[in-house]
Amino acid sequence: MQPQDVIRRKRDGAALTPDEIGFFIRGATDGSVSEGQIGAFLMATWLNGMTQPEITALTLAMRDSGRVMDWSQSGLDPRRIIDKHSSGGVGDEKITLIVVPLAAACGVIVPNLSGRGLDYCAGEHDMLDAVPGYDTTPAPERFMAAVREVGGVIIGPTLDLAPADRKLFFVRDVTATVESVPLITGSIMSKKLASGPSGLVICVGSGSGAYMSTTAQARELGAAMAAVGAGAGVPSVMLLTDLDCVLGTTVGNAVGVIETVDFLTGAERDPRVLELVLEIVAEMALMAGVVAELEAGRALAQARLDDGSGADRFGRMIAALGGPADFVEDPVRHLPGAAVERSVVAARAGYVAGMDAREIGLALVALGGGRTRPDQAIDFGVGISHVAGVGAAVGPDRPLCVVKARTETDWEAAAERIRAAVRVTDAAPDPLGPIIKEKLRRAP
Ligand code: URA
Repeated sequence: MQPQDVIRRKRDGAALTPDEIGFFIRGATDGSVSEGQIGAFLMATWLNGMTQPEITALTLAMRDSGRVMDWSQSGLDPRRIIDKHSSGGVGDEKITLIVVPLAAACGVIVPNLSGRGLDYCAGEHDMLDAVPGYDTTPAPERFMAAVREVGGVIIGPTLDLAPADRKLFFVRDVTATVESVPLITGSIMSKKLASGPSGLVICVGSGSGAYMSTTAQARELGAAMAAVGAGAGVPSVMLLTDLDCVLGTTVGNAVGVIETVDFLTGAERDPRVLELVLEIVAEMALMAGVVAELEAGRALAQARLDDGSGADRFGRMIAALGGPADFVEDPVRHLPGAAVERSVVAARAGYVAGMDAREIGLALVALGGGRTRPDQAIDFGVGISHVAGVGAAVGPDRPLCVVKARTETDWEAAAERIRAAVRVTDAAPDPLGPIIKEKLRRAP
């Protein structure tokens, strides 16, 4: 078998066998399949899709490209190991950073493998790379030790854990092949299954800021991921979320870490982020058996936020993987900034009635906060903060956002793009509906 045989069959619309998929993923991982061949395979899959058996075979091959965490000798209660993920969205990347330490503070054990930025959405792995000293790719033993010490830890795929996702991710990021049910399922579920959880809570977003445009597509993605999880013996809850506008108040890496710390310490809490975080943590606590019903889970999560233990766990996670011990006290001091930092004022006064969140994510990429080539180093300090949400009054005294850029020219380009992406009207719009539109529960 040659890589091009597999690519040709997918290009021509055939359903691949598990052997063919396994062969291709092994080659992508060990380097015998080239980046060009990976790109061709991704585009053929994007165009022709995969059947559920192919999606399952892809995910298992990606999981088995490395080790699967075995917690049986760790001394931790395996029923309490519950992981969380998101299918991606503009501004959504900070949710995992908030949820993992908060769930840990509630008694859930969370070994979390997250992704880098992908096309127009930033990623947790890059955000944590912005923290000096933090090791996002530790050896499995160091990862396990940190999870035992802190209760919840976020890393990225490593050379040992889901290495195939590392390889495919860099190519998907820059080849317009992200919005694909099989590829997202393979990427997310290979990482989730590699970390060895007993249950999963996954946010599947739709809208202008997400990879899935409609709720129907999000449902399809959620069902595909749930089927793979069930096949591997892992129950899941899929939360279908509304990501038609920026989630929270920041888009970017260092700015997203600062929003995370502000949220956990209580300095600033966006209400939609709070609504989502409480629900995710409640679902995780319920699955872990920490609480007997969701309402108790929400109350527990709120209590752990309010007593500061979520913020404390975040600080301990940073320190456990090599970051500054005093990070939570003053994150701004430790994070990179940008040379130009100014507010963007709307062309007219009024109310924010809606936005093309994808355009705002692309503004971040153009600022240098995301990649346009697989090997590109990104600038963690650029970003967008103080984003005015839907319903906010904007005008000379209340800007649309603040843009942090490397140069005046970059700032101007981002400001123009963001002004064009945000719809401002004279009348206040109807309030947004709940952030969680539906839940899908699936047992093995
Ligand atoms: N998160 C991931 O880890 N992978 C995707 O493909 C999308 C979101």
